[in-house]
Amino acid sequence: MRGRWGEKKWTAVFLTLFFVNSGCQRDMHTVQENRILMDTLVSINVYTANFAEEPKLRRAIASAFEEMARFDSLFSAYREDSEVSKINRNVSKKLITISEDMYNVLRVARWASEISEGAFDVTIGPVLRLWGFGTDSMDLPPPEKIAARLPLVNYKNIVMNRPYHSGEKFRILFGILQSPENVSLDLGGVAKGYIVDRGIDVLQQNGIRDAMITAGGDLRALTSPLTAASRYIWIRHPRDSAANPFFSRFKLEGEAAVSTSGDYERCFFKAGKRYHHIIDPHTGYPAAAAVSATVVAKNSVQADALSTAIFVLGPQRGIALADSLPEVEAMIIYQDGEKLSWRATPALQKKFELFYSEKASAR
Ligand code: AMP
Ligand code: MG
Repeated sequence: MRGRWGEKKWTAVFLTLFFVNSGCQRDMHTVQENRILMDTLVSINVYTANFAEEPKLRRAIASAFEEMARFDSLFSAYREDSEVSKINRNVSKKLITISEDMYNVLRVARWASEISEGAFDVTIGPVLRLWGFGTDSMDLPPPEKIAARLPLVNYKNIVMNRPYHSGEKFRILFGILQSPENVSLDLGGVAKGYIVDRGIDVLQQNGIRDAMITAGGDLRALTSPLTAASRYIWIRHPRDSAANPFFSRFKLEGEAAVSTSGDYERCFFKAGKRYHHIIDPHTGYPAAAAVSATVVAKNSVQADALSTAIFVLGPQRGIALADSLPEVEAMIIYQDGEKLSWRATPALQKKFELFYSEKASAR
């Protein structure tokens, strides 16, 4: 099966997930724009049969980027002026008014925490900060520091009220019983998906029916007859090399979002061991049960939160969780002694084409 992609005409963006349109559609034109947002390359592709529409489509893409940039500055824990930083500065002090979008993201986060029994937890901030991922000072923290901060991590410490009449505000109370200087939210596992969904909303509001947004490991596609049944998702090999860039691919049927979480995204090595950015909230250490986790769902925010959650849960519990959810598929690659193995929900397993069969096996 290897080498088959070489026979096809395809274009690809080098991302965690690879997307291609397989084959050439003679009457299809692609309008593409790229920007750096959310610390990653964001690409918007719109597909049309009528190239005269291009100026209109480019305006719609610009509006979608504008909206996504607005949310990027709301949800980034690295920006002093973001809404999440404002919440983090005021934790344990008072009831804080939040935006409806923050409320929406935190609702999805809560859902992911509950169904994963705390494997997903946006209150991971205090422990995550000790590791320094995304900064110049990534290092193995002293175990006693991890142990001291672990009790601060608990999604149940977030209490939100939902307004029942117009004019009433969304409010959050967070960490009131914890030490204020150390408690913090980190939306890195869910915000990107929410932002991709908002970009898709803007495209739809502009009448666009066939498009795709990719942002690092997150992707969402809208499909019309132009691209129906011609899209493949190519999953990057987690230990990729020039000879083996892909692990597998599957056909994306209909409209869907796909997210991948991987231990190769933000990591460092110490004494030959890899330490990465997806932390098991029960131990405070990088989750060890998976190497990468890919989730297909209806929208990006769910796919994003679930890929992080399922990564932490690992192949047995993670795939069982995905299997229990309607309209969710998942695949996990994990270390199995010396080799990589993989496990997927039954529907996804059927669509799967493996491109790295020598050293990987399905379990
Ligand atoms: P993703 O690439 O979507 O899996 O998100 C990884 C990011 O989510 C990390 O860089 C952290 O910002 C954050 N994160 C790490 N561990 C967790 C966790 N257990 N639950 C929720 N978010 C996490
Ligand atoms: Mg995620």
